[in-house]
Amino acid sequence: MVKIGIPRALLYYQYYPMWKSFFENLGAEVVVSPPTTQAALASGSSRVVADTCLPVKAFLGHVLALADECDYIFIPAIRSMKPKIYTCSKFLGLPDMTRAVIPGCPPILDIDIDMSKSKRKLYQAIYRLGRHFTWGPFKVRRAAVAAWQAYLDYRRMMSSQRLTSVEAIDRLSGPPAIVPVRRAGSHAVERQPEQPPPRMTIAVIGHPYIFYDELISHRIKQRLEQAGCRVLTPQMLTGDELEAATARLVGRAYWTYEEEVVGAGEHYLTGGVDGVIGLMTFGCGPDSLMMDVLKRRAAAAAAPFMSLTVEEHTSDAGIITRLEAFIDMIMIRRRARRAPQTCA
Ligand code: SF4
Repeated sequence: MVKIGIPRALLYYQYYPMWKSFFENLGAEVVVSPPTTQAALASGSSRVVADTCLPVKAFLGHVLALADECDYIFIPAIRSMKPKIYTCSKFLGLPDMTRAVIPGCPPILDIDIDMSKSKRKLYQAIYRLGRHFTWGPFKVRRAAVAAWQAYLDYRRMMSSQRLTSVEAIDRLSGPPAIVPVRRAGSHAVERQPEQPPPRMTIAVIGHPYIFYDELISHRIKQRLEQAGCRVLTPQMLTGDELEAATARLVGRAYWTYEEEVVGAGEHYLTGGVDGVIGLMTFGCGPDSLMMDVLKRRAAAAAAPFMSLTVEEHTSDAGIITRLEAFIDMIMIRRRARRAPQTCA
């Protein structure tokens, strides 16, 4: 059986159930790289210039982890997912960049996704991809329809049950088949004890490939939960909610992932959560602009907002201190609001 490797990075958290369904319906086996480790990040970083953004460095580390474990690696080149709304240029050049900096990697299965072009071009691209497995166009079509349904189910599950991407992936298809970790420094996932009722609700805004990667995000979700917070994410909102909030704040989105940053930020800042944290990585042009929009919006709404920028040298201690300060600030503000007002 042909083995397809999918790096657990970048768009994995958005589309894994869809990709898995597509390849499995064409008779292939799907394997996923293990969670990011320091060693994987270092190996990815060593292939590119220093100012490449952290998620791309991590992505290359995941490709290296899969290199000897699969027959092909799936790396789509995504230009736009909605007409005239474009992705960051890193996504567009990902297959070519990977070929250039990891010459020994297995053959890359790439597909150009550009929803600004006609649907016919999209179907042709899907058939071209499917031809690696079958010459039957109807089989490819059935696989594509099933994959789209898997994606819709995944999105619906996250928004209706308020699940994170990782929880929804586990529920839909069980934990992914992971290739063995071959390097030291595995980032093991600890089982969390049952939590008491949350003392506050915090929304964390940012790309799923930053938030769900425990090494890059410094386990921000677990840290907030351990501090007694309920954590909400952009994936827990429906597409309509994200689109409406984006339209309210900036009009029509320009970047594909603007809705999960600006739209989710606007929704939560005005939606009654206790605080919003904007999570981004150093070296990201689009995010630095989008976070600035949110900072101004939070100031106008007098809502607690903190922007956190992570990079390779960020320490756990720095993140913990910032989170504690943010939670304390929310508690002080809450107490001040409850305190009886005295007349002068
Ligand atoms: S949006 Fe930012 S973090 Fe994401 S790939 Fe592009 S530059 Fe990197």
